[in-house]
Amino acid sequence: MDLDRHDFELDDLVERIKANDNRLVALQVPEGLKMQALEMMDSIEDESDATVILAADPCYGACDLVHDKMRMMGVELVAHMGHSQMNIDSGMPTHFIPVTYDGDPELAVALPLLESHRAIAQSRLESVGEEVDIDEEAAKDRFLDAVGRVAPLTGARLGLVGSIQHLHLLEEFKSRLEVAGFDVEIPVGGDRLTFPGQVLGCNYSGDDPSIGHYMFLGSGDFHPIGLVLHTGKPLTMLDPYSGDATEMSLERIERILRQRFGLINSVVEAQTFGILIGEKPGQMRRNLAIRMKRLLEKHGRKGYLLALDHISPDLIDFYPVDAYVNTACPRIAIDDSVRYAKPLITPYELEVALGEKKWETGYQFDEIP
Ligand code: SF4
Repeated sequence: MDLDRHDFELDDLVERIKANDNRLVALQVPEGLKMQALEMMDSIEDESDATVILAADPCYGACDLVHDKMRMMGVELVAHMGHSQMNIDSGMPTHFIPVTYDGDPELAVALPLLESHRAIAQSRLESVGEEVDIDEEAAKDRFLDAVGRVAPLTGARLGLVGSIQHLHLLEEFKSRLEVAGFDVEIPVGGDRLTFPGQVLGCNYSGDDPSIGHYMFLGSGDFHPIGLVLHTGKPLTMLDPYSGDATEMSLERIERILRQRFGLINSVVEAQTFGILIGEKPGQMRRNLAIRMKRLLEKHGRKGYLLALDHISPDLIDFYPVDAYVNTACPRIAIDDSVRYAKPLITPYELEVALGEKKWETGYQFDEIP
């Protein structure tokens, strides 16, 4: 990561520490910035009277705010870097530190992909009104179809989204795309999202049927996989770090759907389940977990509620259950299930396995609202 081109915006934090006369502050930084954490601690301690404790456990999102354990240590303020505020209350005063990257990639390299994706979206507009009565085999085929499983579109607009470090580019890119002839929307999502055009690995709530395809400004495939799994819409990725344009291949999404299909089938006869509850403030879905337990009971199965902060194979593989249902971060089941010794599925996938949800409604991404 080119750190010289990132703005860490520590000044507002130092001002707040001074204004509140905070003496003990916890700093929480994303994994990619941990190497620079000690330098940041020096800088905060040099410029204020506060002592800084690094919250050194892994941190992958604003869902993972440090909370009561830091209060027990006497921490007065949590400084959380690189993620934006969510609709959760950790119980601790928290200062969010934005991190922005100044890279501004060329749009031209992305235009051929965007044009081909717009053509796919327009062809989906024309398919409105196709038959809905289908047999079991056709329903399963629809489940496995990256595009055909989702509802017909009402428009073929381009949805412009990005990860948090690059959101400041969106308005400028909207103008550039409009000059290039695209009808562009920067989608506004629900309460879990702070900014227009923002996406999280567990929330794509800005999607709407008038958006036919997407462009993502960011790096890596974590957000793109979730977006296409959730929407079934073609996605161009423009990476501000490398300047490269690529697409999220529908074959890759179909491979994931086949894996999910296999996991659902593998638990149809399972009798005992561990139901995982995440202890992180923004991942805690206790009511959903209890609803899954009741659902299992209704079908004559057994569910055990297991609460964990970090979820990993060595912490759960040994329990004598047949499978696990994950209600913590949805991406644990989607991205990491091969690491676990037993099937690890989402709540929606359990409902399909128990016959409560139908294949023909198409795969439903496990979104945290
Ligand atoms: S995808 Fe997982 S880690 Fe990321 S914000 Fe959502 S719950 Fe948190």
